[in-house]
Amino acid sequence: MSKKEEILTINHIKKDYGSLEVIKDISLTVGKGEVVVVVGPSGCGKSTLLRCINGLETIQGGEISLKGEIISGRQKDMHLVRQKIGMVFQSYDLFPHKNILDNITLGPVKAQHRKKEEAEEEAEKLLVRVGLLDKKDAYPRQLSGGQKQRVAIVRALCMHPEVMLFDEVTAALDPEMVREVLDVMLELAREGSTMIIVTHEMQFARAIADRIIFLDKGEVVEEGTPEEFFENPKTERARKFLNVFE
Ligand code: ADP
Ligand code: MG
Repeated sequence: MSKKEEILTINHIKKDYGSLEVIKDISLTVGKGEVVVVVGPSGCGKSTLLRCINGLETIQGGEISLKGEIISGRQKDMHLVRQKIGMVFQSYDLFPHKNILDNITLGPVKAQHRKKEEAEEEAEKLLVRVGLLDKKDAYPRQLSGGQKQRVAIVRALCMHPEVMLFDEVTAALDPEMVREVLDVMLELAREGSTMIIVTHEMQFARAIADRIIFLDKGEVVEEGTPEEFFENPKTERARKFLNVFE
């Protein structure tokens, strides 16, 4: 693999809640345009890892850098860092009293001081791409779960993040809406977005990932290409985990 610009560097991080060690010693580097998919059993620390990356959790050891600059342990200006790290959760937390266009442009206008017209123009282009331009004046309650999740992705994209984090974004969706959200993510990957994705959709993981990270009990147990991981898992723990999906 050619050496790509490093976007995110995670260096021996640790996170615990009291006596519970949730992240034990994780190191991970994500290059520009790379798609890393994190899989692992429930409770193994996937969400915590993403939350540490964008500063929603403080870490007790190690450090995290974005494009060579240390971002961990800097709670004061974390809001600036968070603009560079887009995150989409399982529950699309759109503002209920703002329409779709305002939901998307609020961050660019308020936090990044961009011109409203310019932000709206970009928001509309992004809405076209996810097939939702006709919903720009609607309110979140008027959208389906899949539509809301696509808006949440557009809202994160409109901030021009260096990396996008996705935490089980389809887990709360009805089955028929999962595809439309995964397709948007596949397109972002094709276009070269840098992404870290936590998912239980194994076929999707296989299709989208450049690299799979298998996490168990707060540790990286396996790391490899989708082919290596799915065809030939090296550890008993990974084999057991994958059996559930057969
Ligand atoms: P995953 O996303 O892989 O299912 P999480 O990162 O949500 O796992 O959780 C990892 C572990 O940390 C679990 O044992 C969970 O109960 C615990 N945990 C998560 N958040 C907190 C918290 N705020 N306080 C205490 N324990 C937590
Ligand atoms: Mg989780």
